[in-house]
Amino acid sequence: MRTHRCGELRAGDAGTPVILAGWVHRRRDHGGLIFIDLRDSSGLVQVVFNPQIAPEASAVAAEVRNEFVLLVEGEVQPRRAGTENSDLPTGAIEVVAARVEVLNPAETPPFPVNQDTPVDELTRLRYRYLDLRRERMAANLRLRHRVVKFMRDYLDGRDFIEVETPVLNLATPEGARDYLVPSRVHAGSFYALPQSPQQWKQLLMVAGFEKYFQIARCYRDEDLRADRQPEFTQLDVEMSFVEEEDILALIEGLYTELAANVGPQFEVPSPFLRLTYREAIERFGSDKPDLRYGMEIADLTSLVADTEFAVFRNATEAGGRIRGIAVPGGADTPRRGLDALTELARENGAGGLVTVAFTGEGSLDGLTAEDVRSPVARFFTPEQFAALGRACGASRGDLLLIAADRDAVTSRVLDVLRRRVAEDRDLADPGQLIFAFITQFPMFEWDGDEQRWSAVHHLFTAPFAEDVELMDTDPGAVRSHAYDIVCNGQEIGSGSIRIHRRELLMRVLARLGMAEEEATTKFGHMLEAFTYGAPPHGGIAPGIDRTVALFAGERDIREVIAFPKTKSASDPMTGAPSPVSERQLRDVHIALDLRAARS
Ligand code: ASP
Repeated sequence: MRTHRCGELRAGDAGTPVILAGWVHRRRDHGGLIFIDLRDSSGLVQVVFNPQIAPEASAVAAEVRNEFVLLVEGEVQPRRAGTENSDLPTGAIEVVAARVEVLNPAETPPFPVNQDTPVDELTRLRYRYLDLRRERMAANLRLRHRVVKFMRDYLDGRDFIEVETPVLNLATPEGARDYLVPSRVHAGSFYALPQSPQQWKQLLMVAGFEKYFQIARCYRDEDLRADRQPEFTQLDVEMSFVEEEDILALIEGLYTELAANVGPQFEVPSPFLRLTYREAIERFGSDKPDLRYGMEIADLTSLVADTEFAVFRNATEAGGRIRGIAVPGGADTPRRGLDALTELARENGAGGLVTVAFTGEGSLDGLTAEDVRSPVARFFTPEQFAALGRACGASRGDLLLIAADRDAVTSRVLDVLRRRVAEDRDLADPGQLIFAFITQFPMFEWDGDEQRWSAVHHLFTAPFAEDVELMDTDPGAVRSHAYDIVCNGQEIGSGSIRIHRRELLMRVLARLGMAEEEATTKFGHMLEAFTYGAPPHGGIAPGIDRTVALFAGERDIREVIAFPKTKSASDPMTGAPSPVSERQLRDVHIALDLRAARS
């Protein structure tokens, strides 16, 4: 239908006759001359309608509105000197229209397509096809394409093969809630949609492929937050005959090259930092720390061991510790700000928060009582305050935030405070992507609701060989070969070296409270496969939605998914999920009982 695409035309095309097709992005009527910015997937070009040159076309152009679809015939001309638009790649030229045809008119869109104005989410999703016409969203999906293509090429170049695995699966008892699909043929039985292709990729290793990947859709029926969707996409990877470092090196290479190719605007320091889980929690209170700023957590316990201050004393006597961070330049935080931080600490389980502001500038040497503002001033000498400050790396002008409690509480509280303060004070450089690997996750955690141990990563994760004996005596102390890749305070993906021997898998299943019979019903196929020469193997699964969101500078993964669901897992455009007919229910042998849902 067309000879060129709108966004391709340049000064060198002047004099060329063209036929273009696209949408009316914007129309300006200059009493006589009409200017239309015509948009197609390649970009915009200005089309001029002059009633003197093309009276018929100008009459049509006078009637069109935004988002009409046009076919325009004309000639490329340089713009008059002084009217060039250097912001637009086609800004040196315009197309003088000779003829125009309306291929399709358009209703007035429910929100402007030619601006990135805020629009409520329901409306955006109800008219997603219009939302995706907007520049930012279109750019996000194109970026997503480039990211996924780069991943495929990177792995293909290293002899990985892409294998599709089933979407209809055996329901798994572990992990998140499954999405279930009733079987028509097997009355009363259900398939589950995959939470990840975990077992399939391990079976592909048993099958001898050695290097597998898949752009895999995963489904988890969880309560949704900004970074969750009921269906999401992972770059699923598995390799045989590898150790932990082989997987980390592969992924570090992938993300470094990805950044250079699709996100060169970001500074991505390498080599990626490797932190053990314990180290991460000790220094940042979190297993997904934002490393773009400091404010590392310091252990202050020994510095205030003999204090009269009851809060600190009680905490240490109960086996807790005193830990704190220094907020650079935070001494100027007004009363209201300090109250808000204290409130945040309380919401996260702390009894309170101790604040210490050092006034003035420079080092903490020669600190006097006048230089310290703190509600606990009377309990400590200036020298003690200086020692606390130094331990946190503070100088005058900084603010100490100190929590006293069990480690689980102080870690959570200081992590939250660290993130909040960084946000309030703009400490995180949006131009940096700081990746790190978190390693040596614990193998098991105690599940208080179920009153049993559960797997921190998943039950196929290999424990440290030297910790295997602890599985019986001290399960909480068993380290695993599980690792995460994190960036800017977010988990981007997890993986592990796997168990590849039947006996060890049986032992882990027993530790998780599974009797032998239950274990063989649920995992018999894996246990059996492992008896036929399963190679040592391991893998990882970075989230593609999150990866693209990082490179797009978006917080919410829905901004990089073409057709996401709302927070209540519905699609306002199609109306999914919806009731189905009696007939459809009968086919799959389902009778509804909605009393519990309605009450
Ligand atoms: N399948 C795991 C997950 O989805 C990742 C892995 O261990 O490879 O978290």
